[in-house]
Amino acid sequence: MKPQAVKGTRDILPDEQAAWQAIITAAETTFGRAGVAKLTPPIFENSEIFTKSVGDSSDLVVQHEMYSFSDRGGRSLTLRPEFTAGVLRAFIEHGFHTKASPVKLWSHGPAFRAENVQRGRYRQFHQINCELLGLDNPLLDAEAIALLITFLQTCGLSDLTVRLGTVGDPGDRAAYNHYLRERLEPRREQLSPTSRERLERNPLRILDSKDPHDQELLKELKRPLDFLNAAAARHFEAVQRYLRDWDIPYLVDPSLVRGLDYYRRTAFEVHHRGIGAQSALGGGGRYDGLVASLGGPPTPGIGWAAGIERLLDATRQEGSLEVPSPGPQLYLVPLDEQAVAEVARLAHRLRRRYHVEYAYQPRKVGRGISDADRRRARYAGLRGSRERARNSYQLKRLASGEQREVAELELGDFLADA
Ligand code: AMP
Repeated sequence: MKPQAVKGTRDILPDEQAAWQAIITAAETTFGRAGVAKLTPPIFENSEIFTKSVGDSSDLVVQHEMYSFSDRGGRSLTLRPEFTAGVLRAFIEHGFHTKASPVKLWSHGPAFRAENVQRGRYRQFHQINCELLGLDNPLLDAEAIALLITFLQTCGLSDLTVRLGTVGDPGDRAAYNHYLRERLEPRREQLSPTSRERLERNPLRILDSKDPHDQELLKELKRPLDFLNAAAARHFEAVQRYLRDWDIPYLVDPSLVRGLDYYRRTAFEVHHRGIGAQSALGGGGRYDGLVASLGGPPTPGIGWAAGIERLLDATRQEGSLEVPSPGPQLYLVPLDEQAVAEVARLAHRLRRRYHVEYAYQPRKVGRGISDADRRRARYAGLRGSRERARNSYQLKRLASGEQREVAELELGDFLADA
């Protein structure tokens, strides 16, 4: 049997690398312009970092979605299912709370969840992650959302919808959960199995249900927005004022709740219509109690993550990502056996400054030029006995077909000006 990648994981093939790099570059540009510094945490952490942070009722815990294993010392380690917990562990470990607030950090890399695989839902996927820490000011919430939108726009996307919600403070959330339990307990039998389970652990998450019967039952019920305390309501208003002020369109989604338990107040998602049922390109929210619950000093914060696979899917639907052509500046074609070593040596020298490739065997002129064309080279450089005698190359500009002879020693200068 042919070996195969593990279900839910895939290779990022050479042809896809330029598009991936374009996404990373868009992130670097967006964050660089906003003074967000890069932090690269390890891919695995002590399991308790995640179990403490994501909450007992999140799918990651309830559905056993984390990839955990014991190391040789019997410690339980977990491949990160998301970035926030690891970034906050680093924030605490390196004493970042003593730096001027806000501390703004971004990261990217793979994350791992043992989920049901479908379009836009994989077991190893990749995220761009952003955390803004140290202020409970609604300005930070608006900035986080603006950064996500600017990043997605820098990737060339335009068909974006921001959904904005709030789950209030822990007291509001408890009151809302109490309300939902009271209303739904008598109808528990009519709920889907997942929602029945959520009724026990975290009724708020029932709002996330895609089951039409659940949604029917929820129809006349209140939303977390109706349970906000005055300060949380003012906060929510202020976030919206900034977004309006910055011309960032958004929809208030009273049912928006997020999969992880740590969110408070602001929650948001950005959706794209073209990528199927898993339409969230990114999402996040405020998590003011989280640093303290991981053992750090009380520090408010807000963050988001966007999935690179979904983002690439969306850019394919919109045909919008600008990917620079990866072709060589010069493709060298040896026309006889002796020229093979000559072009290889020249390529070795020119590669200090230029992108140069070559054929590894002698080629006829026509075949050599079509190889150069296929590789999207700018110039083909031909070397045969005539050129050897004059220590030169015949250079053919592939776009125009125009041809000229250039002395070998002048090739570097020629490429610099070309
Ligand atoms: P979350 O950490 O669940 O809030 O997810 C943030 C973003 O990461 C989502 O909007 C997706 O773009 C992406 N994402 C989350 N889970 C997966 C997954 N299993 N496969 C692919 N992308 C994912």
